[in-house]
Amino acid sequence: MLCQRFPATQTNIQKTAELIRAGELVAFPTETVYGLGALGLDEAAISKVFAAKNRPAYNPLILHVHSAQKALELLDLESPELFWQLAQKYWPGPLTLVAPKAKHVPMLATGGLDKVAVRVPAHPVALELLRLIDAPVVAPSANASGRPSSTTADHVLLTLGDKISAVLDAGPCEYGLESTVIDISQNPPVVLRPGALNLDPIGRDTSGKIQGSPGRLDKHYAPLIPEIKLASLEELERAPPGTAFLVHTPRYFESRVYEILPNNPKGYAKGLFAALYRLEASKTQSLWIERLPEGKEWESIKDRILRALS
Ligand code: AMP
Ligand code: MG
Repeated sequence: MLCQRFPATQTNIQKTAELIRAGELVAFPTETVYGLGALGLDEAAISKVFAAKNRPAYNPLILHVHSAQKALELLDLESPELFWQLAQKYWPGPLTLVAPKAKHVPMLATGGLDKVAVRVPAHPVALELLRLIDAPVVAPSANASGRPSSTTADHVLLTLGDKISAVLDAGPCEYGLESTVIDISQNPPVVLRPGALNLDPIGRDTSGKIQGSPGRLDKHYAPLIPEIKLASLEELERAPPGTAFLVHTPRYFESRVYEILPNNPKGYAKGLFAALYRLEASKTQSLWIERLPEGKEWESIKDRILRALS
């Protein structure tokens, strides 16, 4: 299969909606990362997503819809108070809510769990696409399982180019980091995965503890580089020749392959996965990443980097 690249025009968004409605896989931009879209209540389409990404069946998918009301219909909530409180505050946006699933949500989408994850994304292209499809769409990051998430259409083509029908291209994603996932069946809600929302502390809306969730145990977000480690700036100065660097302190390093990311959480997150893909393309055998600053706003970035190292 040859993956087509569609610029995100209205006509192409319509074409993409038709392809997804017909059961095909099409990647599309969200404000977090590119998602691999497929019909979220259709077992055949969901199976194709797991196969294309080579994603383990126990790693649950997030169902994307265009309104909070549509999201609520996928849940089986005794009292929707907390749901509405968070939905009104953060949606459309990079927050995913986990709660007991409604009967019609297939276990295939939830990795066998009786809870489901739902989100209303903020990217105008994603919202328009979801509005046209008018059915829940699963959209895990559009990359082969275990690789860094795709933040551009080029990344999608690199790891899924021979496995999906098309990618809607709207340029780089705003956050470059996946959504924050919280479980609202407990009050206060519990963070299952820190993410884009944590770049701005979410404070009192969650317990602050991170509990971990299925599909989060494996090596993840990893570029194909044999050795990746964390190092201080002083250690970088003494690194062996051939070692590539990823830093956030602006420096000139003579005869080195290196990437400098902005020294603030939002800028760092936005550029991280693209920098990892470029460093991978340099064919370096060893990558040293400058240790990140302290602070809650760096938490979700640290989470991704530690998983890439593991
Ligand atoms: P992604 O691969 O970025 O689409 O994100 C999916 C992630 O959301 C999973 O790997 C889990 O960490 C989390 N998630 C999705 N559904 C559930 C669920 N039902 N229960 C707990 N965590 C979930
Ligand atoms: Mg992913």
